[in-house]
Amino acid sequence: MRANYRMQRLFVPDALDAGAGIEASPQQSHYLMHVLRLREGAQVLLFNGRDGEWSATVSEKTKKAVRLVVQDLQRPQPPLSDLVYCFAPLKQGRLDYLVQKAVEMGAGVLQPVITQHTQVAKPGIERLRANVIEAAEQCGILAVPEVRESEKLDRLLAGWDKERRLVFCDEDAATNNPLPALQAVKETKLALLVGPEGGFSEDERRMLRALPFVSVIPLGPRILRADTAAVAALAVMQATIGDW
Ligand code: SAH
Repeated sequence: MRANYRMQRLFVPDALDAGAGIEASPQQSHYLMHVLRLREGAQVLLFNGRDGEWSATVSEKTKKAVRLVVQDLQRPQPPLSDLVYCFAPLKQGRLDYLVQKAVEMGAGVLQPVITQHTQVAKPGIERLRANVIEAAEQCGILAVPEVRESEKLDRLLAGWDKERRLVFCDEDAATNNPLPALQAVKETKLALLVGPEGGFSEDERRMLRALPFVSVIPLGPRILRADTAAVAALAVMQATIGDW
């Protein structure tokens, strides 16, 4: 069932059930009161990543906070997507964009990977999580993707679940069309790996190409920026072996 885009959707940490009283956070309260100017009785949608999406009404507005009363279940909680999106963190602005697009494109797990040419040592995980929540609120996603702690590429691969196919976007690939390699994938557990602006090193490329659970794909004849590559790769993966 598609999301209702007419109503404001808010992520809350609280358990959601009919009749539950929820207090919006200070910034959410400010937004509801002073930006949306919602009156008592107005309806919003709430989700918490566990209990599905519920309608709720504005029951009370104090100076500091808006209180809401949960009404009815609108959409049941879907399972979290099993697509692991591994990415070399980028500089903040592009990283915000990349995280939001990965959420919209259906990644279920965001795994920052530190490679030799990665520019950003350790991205702020709280900021990554905040971007995930914002993307989920905006595009009606109820299963909120998990953001994992950064891992160095070699350690990530050493501990890899061999039943999960890792689709490696190699800017040095010899062909242009990703479809043959994607259509040859048998596994249903999938992951994608996109490198940093500086690309993968030759050692990393050799290490990745030697692994039995890795499939190499090109993303066309042109070199894409890492955030463009993320969207292009997720689109072609979802359309061939994902959930589109
Ligand atoms: N600076 C590098 C390019 C890095 S692009 C160079 O000039 O070679 C950032 C990442 O996006 C790459 O590591 C790769 O994962 C992905 N990517 C970009 N263009 C691609 C392409 N044409 N094919 C496959 N992957 C690509």
